[in-house]
Amino acid sequence: MKVDYIVVGLGLAGIAFTKKLEDNNKSFLVFEDHSQNSSIVAGGMYNPVILKRFTPVWSATSQLEIALPFYEELSNKFNSKYDYKVDIYRIFKSIEEQNDWFVASDKSLLSNYMVPQIVNQKYHGIKAEYGYGKLFNTGRVDTKLLLNNYHQYLLNKGLIKNESFNYNALTLNEDTVEYQGIHASKIVFCEGFGLQKNPFFNYLPMQEAKGELLIIHAPALNVDFLIKAAVFVLPLGENLYKVGATFNWKDKTKLPSEEGKQELIDKLNSFITVPYTIVEHIAGIRPTVKDRRPLVGKHPKHQNMAILNGLGTRGVMIAPTAAIALYDLLEHNIELDPEIAIDRFQ
Ligand SMILES: Cc1cc2nc3c(=O)[nH]c(=O)nc-3n(C[C@H](O)[C@H](O)[C@H](O)COP(=O)(O)OP(=O)(O)OC[C@H]3O[C@@H](n4cnc5c(N)ncnc54)[C@H](O)[C@@H]3O)c2cc1C
Repeated sequence: MKVDYIVVGLGLAGIAFTKKLEDNNKSFLVFEDHSQNSSIVAGGMYNPVILKRFTPVWSATSQLEIALPFYEELSNKFNSKYDYKVDIYRIFKSIEEQNDWFVASDKSLLSNYMVPQIVNQKYHGIKAEYGYGKLFNTGRVDTKLLLNNYHQYLLNKGLIKNESFNYNALTLNEDTVEYQGIHASKIVFCEGFGLQKNPFFNYLPMQEAKGELLIIHAPALNVDFLIKAAVFVLPLGENLYKVGATFNWKDKTKLPSEEGKQELIDKLNSFITVPYTIVEHIAGIRPTVKDRRPLVGKHPKHQNMAILNGLGTRGVMIAPTAAIALYDLLEHNIELDPEIAIDRFQ
């Protein structure tokens, strides 16, 4: 069998890259072993403002200009809704934070997202003594549904193998790679935190940032916006809310833990006063990098081998832009932005 590309991993990175391949009539085969699930459990939020400091997220506006049409195209392709517009209400902790909000919302990049007023309305079941700062032009992508639809689509077309990619079985020729009888011009690795097992790229400084989330049922909490305080509470419809997320820099497993669950409950109870029941507890590992920038580029020695990873905490916004950059490098030799190029770690 001959293909243009082998792609390892079908999370947000794998989807973004294979979509680019399809759009350009390139042939490919994906390997996916379900060893990671960051893209499936993710909150799926896109928000160009850092809610701790009220500063802009790196390159967010240009990333969103590419990401929103990307999800819309997939919505049309699969006849499913993925992108939900969701405002964000950030609970203020103090008068000082209110003042910081006013200063930030006046800045040119941020004024497209931050309302320059304090929301003082009372909402049943939420403690917010100092009111809220409201963000707009933000939203949630239903990454789980997107992944399921995309996976099924590739399966129906015979373009994905549900098996672990065995790095030892890869043969590197001068202009091609060969794997179990498949000859490809190039191979692209999109394994998320699975990168740690990849002998070609695991020299790159990935830091695991495990995150846990709860899904709660809270019929008395009647809000259609995301509430952000010690944790976020994200409406999913039908009185269900996603609550998250923890950050654990040591635990390398994707299993939910009692410790993580208790942390989420304690934080949630600090600002939510209505009763709720826990419906689900999920976890995944965010593929973060020490400088908080993606990992994109060709292997320093093997030019037909490349990586698309390091999407960190914001894969929804970054993946489509990073995929285009990698494709343009591999197909058109267009140089990468040095901030995302893996050459920065040589
Ligand atoms: C709790 C939590 C909340 C989050 N919330 C948000 C959010 O609100 N907004 C946002 O933008 N981002 C969020 N993220 C981050 C986002 O999920 C990641 O940035 C993104 O999903 C990473 O995508 P990826 O494709 O690089 O990795 P992954 O989703 O991990 O995909 C990698 C894929 O490769 C497969 N794989 C690995 N090794 C192999 C192998 N050897 N053979 C075959 N297959 C392999 C894995 O099974 C997996 O499917 C969150 C993450 C977590 C954990």
